[in-house]
Amino acid sequence: MRTITVLGSTGSIGVSTLDVVGRHPDRFSVHALSAHRSVERLAEQSLRFRPRQVVLGDAGAAAALRQRLGAAAAAIEILWGPEALCQVASAPPVDVVMAAIVGAAGLPSAIAAAQTGKTILLANKESLVMAGPVFLEAVSRGQARVLPIDSEHNAVYQCFPTRSDDRGGVRRILLTASGGPFRRSSIAEMAAARPEQAVAHPKWSMGRKISVDSATMMNKGLEIIEAHYLFGVPSAAIDVVVHPQSVVHSMVEYVDGSVLAQLGHPDMRTPIAHALGFPDRIQSGVGPLDLTQVGSLDFEPPDPVRFPCLRLAREALESGGAAPCVLNAANEIAVQAFLDGQIRFTAIAEVNEHVLVQLAATPAPSDLAAVIEIDAAARRAATAAVQDRSR
Ligand code: NAD
Ligand code: MG
Repeated sequence: MRTITVLGSTGSIGVSTLDVVGRHPDRFSVHALSAHRSVERLAEQSLRFRPRQVVLGDAGAAAALRQRLGAAAAAIEILWGPEALCQVASAPPVDVVMAAIVGAAGLPSAIAAAQTGKTILLANKESLVMAGPVFLEAVSRGQARVLPIDSEHNAVYQCFPTRSDDRGGVRRILLTASGGPFRRSSIAEMAAARPEQAVAHPKWSMGRKISVDSATMMNKGLEIIEAHYLFGVPSAAIDVVVHPQSVVHSMVEYVDGSVLAQLGHPDMRTPIAHALGFPDRIQSGVGPLDLTQVGSLDFEPPDPVRFPCLRLAREALESGGAAPCVLNAANEIAVQAFLDGQIRFTAIAEVNEHVLVQLAATPAPSDLAAVIEIDAAARRAATAAVQDRSR
């Protein structure tokens, strides 16, 4: 029996996680759940999974949950705020932490889980992008373990050599990208795109922020950085290939010419179940893949002109220092501004590039406090850049 905390349990990944957990009541007991504002959904989850603790974004949401739970609230400790997220991520009975909060807000609790030696199922790629070395240092000091949830990285994990002295056999990692909703769109069409078009992903059902990132291909850029930190592979050995069917989730190429791939339906319950059961294989609720139905698997190179965010992320990784942290923060502000109707879709990349150039001299952060400071500075610069481009 493993005890799990699900951070961000009301989001797309959180809901899929509880779907898998609910299929294995003999394997998992839920210690804590968290949501920012989704009181109703957290109430339903709490009544079903009976966590010992839950966390909400603020006191008002916590009070609303208490009222909604009625008598059931007596058995559940209702907490709120960022500190409480760290508390439920590091609580002694917890073995496994699903880190599925979106954005930089997920970093402190992921670090708390790392410091206390938990098995971290890492969906929150932003924490690795903004604080890769700091996060990995906490993982190694706390003797924690990271299992990637991002479908590409979970695929690479499954195809990667298991013997650590064998890494030299890897020639490159090939991350697949669906191409997003604008794979065939012109720059003019993208400039006029509305938020509803950008979040309408052709293959995956996801939260709004990562859906916009998929449309700009910043998601793939962030994933290059994520792969670099997770697998210790340099930027030059991480390639991106557009694969619109989203059946091959990523590949590892070896020096002998072998290319290993992991395939499956585009359903996050597969990588989630892989990590939840690891090293066992457990049921996920995902049906078998009928390749005769899929028919063909297509691959094409990404277009660097229409998708400048991909280039920006690679440049940020290669220039090092604070650049990945700066880029992540700028992108969060730019994406939100686009979703709020403040800027055009194509201005997301402009804001990101502007802030990267402006803060290029910022040295690499050495601890969590420095990461948070750089994140804040980049958010201020991005907010100003958004203002300049507001419609
Ligand atoms: P989502 O928007 O659907 O859910 C986000 C969750 O975080 C919700 O539970 C929300 O209540 C909570 N949250 C939001 N803001 C918060 C804050 N400030 N403080 C505390 N909690 C907050 O997002 P998602 O699509 O589930 O993505 C979650 C993470 O997983 C992201 O980092 C994303 O990049 C990553 N990821 C998602 C997918 C996917 O298929 N959805 C795939 C790969 C990686
Ligand atoms: Mg992914």
